[in-house]
Amino acid sequence: MNSLRNYDSYSIAQDTRLMLKRAEQESVETVWDRHERQSPHCGFCEMGLSCRICVMGPCRIDPFGEGPQQGVCGADADIIVARNLGRMIAAGAAAHSDHGRDLVEVLEKVAEGKAPGYSIQDANKLRLVAAEYGIEALEREPLAIAKDLAFAMQEDYGTRKKCLQLVDRAPSQRRALWENLGITPRGIDRETSEMMHRTHMGVDNDWVSLLLHGLRNALSDGWGGSMIATDVSDILYGTPMPAFSQVNMGVLKEDMVNILVHGHNPVVSETILQACASPELIALAKEKGAAGINLAGLCCTGNELLMRHGVPMAGNHLCTELALTTGAVEMMIVDYQCIMPAISKVAACFHTKMISTSDKAKFPGMVHREFHPENALELAHGLVREAVENFARRIPERVYIPVEPIPMMAGFSIEAIVKALGGSVTPLIDAIKSGAIRGAVGIVGCNNPKIKQDHGHVTLAKRLIENDILVVDTGCAAVASAKAGLKVPEAAVMAGAGLRSVCQSLGIPPVLHFGSCVDNVRILNLAAALANTLGVDISDLPIAGAAPEWYSEKAVSIGAYFVASGVFTVLGPMPPITGSLNVVKLLTEGLNGVVGAAFAVEPDPEKAAILIKEHIDAKRKALGLGV
Ligand code: SF4
Ligand code: SF4
Repeated sequence: MNSLRNYDSYSIAQDTRLMLKRAEQESVETVWDRHERQSPHCGFCEMGLSCRICVMGPCRIDPFGEGPQQGVCGADADIIVARNLGRMIAAGAAAHSDHGRDLVEVLEKVAEGKAPGYSIQDANKLRLVAAEYGIEALEREPLAIAKDLAFAMQEDYGTRKKCLQLVDRAPSQRRALWENLGITPRGIDRETSEMMHRTHMGVDNDWVSLLLHGLRNALSDGWGGSMIATDVSDILYGTPMPAFSQVNMGVLKEDMVNILVHGHNPVVSETILQACASPELIALAKEKGAAGINLAGLCCTGNELLMRHGVPMAGNHLCTELALTTGAVEMMIVDYQCIMPAISKVAACFHTKMISTSDKAKFPGMVHREFHPENALELAHGLVREAVENFARRIPERVYIPVEPIPMMAGFSIEAIVKALGGSVTPLIDAIKSGAIRGAVGIVGCNNPKIKQDHGHVTLAKRLIENDILVVDTGCAAVASAKAGLKVPEAAVMAGAGLRSVCQSLGIPPVLHFGSCVDNVRILNLAAALANTLGVDISDLPIAGAAPEWYSEKAVSIGAYFVASGVFTVLGPMPPITGSLNVVKLLTEGLNGVVGAAFAVEPDPEKAAILIKEHIDAKRKALGLGV
């Protein structure tokens, strides 16, 4: 490896930069090394112009007009680009929604008394959500309600109904618009299945029709699978309330047994958390010479534990290999999504045990322990015991924890915000009307080795809060701004005078942690609540979305459901669509006339902030508010 690398250009995060040097010294290969070897990437694929849907191909369209302009079947650039994008949305929607289904199955098992280790933590939310599904909730026991709710939610995955239940949360204008366009989501699985059907060779060959179905498919995620995932997680594990914690690789402890949980679904990690608190296992850790057991998170499984229990967060997507390179991790337990298959190779350089837990997510080099609601607590205790016993295999001389952790605040569910505001969103609306808060932006999404880690998220967040625009963020974006110190109440001094005074009076940071990737629906719910209170559509609000460092198909689905819900959304990396100018024009301009919002692509976060500020000013003006 080249020792002359300038790691300052890889990341703005100090822990990442120091760990990259360490990885080089330890000959540990990282995602950046593999990215460098893959560069330059295939131009056809980057433009969305390659198709391998059938074996008459694979086919490629020449973007310069000199070579083939059609695949073997006759599909042109517009069709191929739209089909590829449609399949990305389908994969993203499927990932979120299947995550939601797993949670509903746990809820069902809890109701049946077959899930030791799980219980109903928020019976009030259970009642409220059940009532939305038309389930009698007032005079009944929580477990009876839970059984009916699990059944009703499972039906949302099928095709029995013409519309998903939680779509009713959207403003009436938005629902009417979806109905007129024929994109009201019906069944969660149905829309994904139909997208795979439409994109089979010889089915939907109208690129506009394909993209419209892409919006419906994404809506089935945003107002369906992801919304169910968030609601059921709150019901089972508790609705998040603000809590202090810490972030970055400094949360790993040299004198403790360190266990990392990574992935997305809290089903496994919630039981690991319980096992880590076991007096018997803590005593065992002390017997083995450790000061105790330290559980920390990565990516969105980490976000789930962080926002509900204040469990510290070791890092976001690009930190996952580097956290193992500290040599201080006894065990990493993964569930699914965003877990790089290369990660076990890093673990193999150290003493770390790698454990996979889901039958649908197995990895080379990991020991597989399959979790089910029935056996989860028992398995969790067994795994924590193994991690404690593994402490003896740690080589102290190889341990390197390069930084001190940064304090942060998490747990801003809508319920928490409404509580802080005294019981309704009216004070927030008043602050927006007065201009103290000019608008709100959801910054979401991943890290991507094509982009300097965290630079997009943090720069954009700083510019927005300086302009009195409240930022709510999720997923790896939320971790980035926390590492940069934006998630403590003291960070209010970085905000403009209006936002600063609101934050200081409430004792909150100017950048609010809204949770994990599926929790982007909390942003939809907040937008719907504001729009409903004001009697306008979501597209009328001074709000926007941004995904400055996205990489994943799930982010494509999120972006599509944001836009289809009326939220202007700015992407950092360009999606693979530039092979079709028609598709680019529809997504960045034409959708304004269809759903009242569109995408923009702006890799420079300084310029993205200007675009968003202009958008918010225009929306304020249209509402008759000061700019
Ligand atoms: S679907 Fe058409 S463009 Fe795609 S691989 Fe088959 S023949 Fe080629
Ligand atoms: S934000 Fe992106 S990289 Fe991070 S956990 Fe979510 S999908 Fe994965």
